[in-house]
Amino acid sequence: MSGEALQRRYHEVRERIARACQRSGRDPATVGLVAVSKQQPAEALAALAALGQRVFGESYLQEALSKQAVLAHLPLEWHFIGPLQGNKTRLVAEHFAWVHSVDRERIARRLSEQRPEALGPLQVCIQVNLSGEASKSGVEPEALVPLAEFVEACPRLQLRGLMTLPARNEDLERQRRPFARLRELKQRLADHLGRPLDTLSMGMSADLEAAVLEGATWVRVGTALFGPRPPRP
Ligand SMILES: *Cc1c(COP(=O)(O)O)cnc(C)c1O
Repeated sequence: MSGEALQRRYHEVRERIARACQRSGRDPATVGLVAVSKQQPAEALAALAALGQRVFGESYLQEALSKQAVLAHLPLEWHFIGPLQGNKTRLVAEHFAWVHSVDRERIARRLSEQRPEALGPLQVCIQVNLSGEASKSGVEPEALVPLAEFVEACPRLQLRGLMTLPARNEDLERQRRPFARLRELKQRLADHLGRPLDTLSMGMSADLEAAVLEGATWVRVGTALFGPRPPRP
C-alpha cells in the first residue's frame, strides 16, 4: 500500500473512533487504538509508526519477534492478542507490554513466573468467550471469577480488564450485544474484586463503532488500517 493510502486509512479509522465517541459522549482520548499488524511486513508497521501510531497488536509469536527486532529503534508498545500455548509464554512475557488473551490459569501462572522483574508487571486482559464466539479461545463467563481471582494473585501480572472477539455481525444493534455483555461482566467482576478495572478490549475493523458505544477502551483494528492481510507464509 502507498504511504498516502495508509495515511488516508489511518485518518479514517481515527475519524470513525472520534465519531463513535461523539455519539456516546465519550472523550476520544479514552479509546486506545491497537494497530493489528499480524501478517503485515515490518515496513508497513514502520510507515504507520511514522504517522504517529505507537501501539501494535500481534497474534503469531515468531512473526512478531522478527518484526520487533527490525523495529527495535522505534518507541513502540507491543500487545499480544492471539491464542497462547504454554510453550510460548516465556517469549511473550519477555517481549510484550500487554497480553489480551489470557484464558486459563496455567498460562497466567507461567506468564507471571516468566515475566522479567526489570520490565515491571505484564498488563493483562482475560479473554471471555461469549455466545457466537468465532474462535474457541476465551474463558466461559461462568468461569471468569475464579480465573480473575487467580490472575489477581499472580505477582507479575496486572489484571486490567476483559477482552472478547465475537462472531461477525453486520447489524450495529446485534454487534452491540456481546460488547454490552462484556461491559456488564467487567463491572460485576470489579465489584467482586473490590477495585475498578479500567480496560475493555473489544471492537475490530467491522464493529469498532458498536464497541466504542459500549465502552471499549482498546479497539483492535487490522484490515481497516493495513488493507487485507496477505496469506501467512
Ligand atoms: C486479527 C485480529 C483483529 C483485527 O481484525 P480486523 O478485522 O482485521 O480489524 C483483532 N483482534 C484479534 C484478536 C485478531 O486476531
